[in-house]
Amino acid sequence: MDRSIFIGVDVSCAVKKRIPIVFAEKREGRLIPLPVKELPFAAPYGHGNKLVVEHEYNLNYARQIRQYISDVCHFYGVKPERIAIDSPLRPRSEEIDYRVAERELNQAGIRCYKTPSKPEFDEIINKVRRHLALGGEVARVPHAMQLWMLAGFEISRELAKIAPVLEVFPQANIRRLIPNTKHKTRKGVPKLQLEAIARYTGWPATPRDWKILKRISAGSMHDQVDAYSAAWVASLNEAELEVFGEVESQDVVWVPSKKLLSTHPRLNEYRKVCPACHEHEFKRWPWGWDAHAAHRCKGLSKGTQEQRKAEFRRRFL
Ligand SMILES: [Zn+2]
Repeated sequence: MDRSIFIGVDVSCAVKKRIPIVFAEKREGRLIPLPVKELPFAAPYGHGNKLVVEHEYNLNYARQIRQYISDVCHFYGVKPERIAIDSPLRPRSEEIDYRVAERELNQAGIRCYKTPSKPEFDEIINKVRRHLALGGEVARVPHAMQLWMLAGFEISRELAKIAPVLEVFPQANIRRLIPNTKHKTRKGVPKLQLEAIARYTGWPATPRDWKILKRISAGSMHDQVDAYSAAWVASLNEAELEVFGEVESQDVVWVPSKKLLSTHPRLNEYRKVCPACHEHEFKRWPWGWDAHAAHRCKGLSKGTQEQRKAEFRRRFL
């Protein structure tokens, strides 16, 4: 029988950017992403804000994504069990002026973009077309921060044909793991976020795992961490999940439960991958950190041995 796989999709529609999708498998209590960068097929490219208002392009993009996922699953002999997507699955219901999930996220201090209703989106699409027809720049289209949702709706609809689909919001996961996290694109922050997730997923746990990170999906490291974070939520069982919003009205964003996050991480306390370079493994952390920091660590600034040790102590001890 095919092994189960949990999939995380970091929805994007940027031109000439391949969509980041992570395929992760539970193995001995760990959540291991499969390397996909060297496969004979690659995740499809987005079409950008100019074409995301054209329904056929989104439909075509969504079908290519489904095909890509099927190809990867076929290649590895795995079966999609659940798919988490970091996008609203459908327009806001016309009966309410704000999604319940988005209102609750905002109340928790987690900023998110408001999802328009279908009639609002029709109006937005007309505005974008008018802007472009009058020679306006693509970079200045109105509602630029909501247009990607149009791609998300079609991707969700298409992927629901192969497995149950959950809406997730990696930024909400991170806020639960690291309450005072800086913005995710700041240097070093994706690594911190992944280390926080790894305490619960057991991955990455070794220098070899950290090397594989580059190969788990398209996109930059923060895209890869977001897609892995989504796959993590997809892999959790009911007791390990909580929601913002209402399950009954399908207005819901899924996050790891506080109960799960309060459990003591199961990892060996003494083995630890160097938090600066991720290339060295301490067998009995923090034993030996000073020699590693002084001489070998590639994750520290240049300087004297004492300066390097001081930097390591300041950042990690
Ligand atoms: Zn190091």
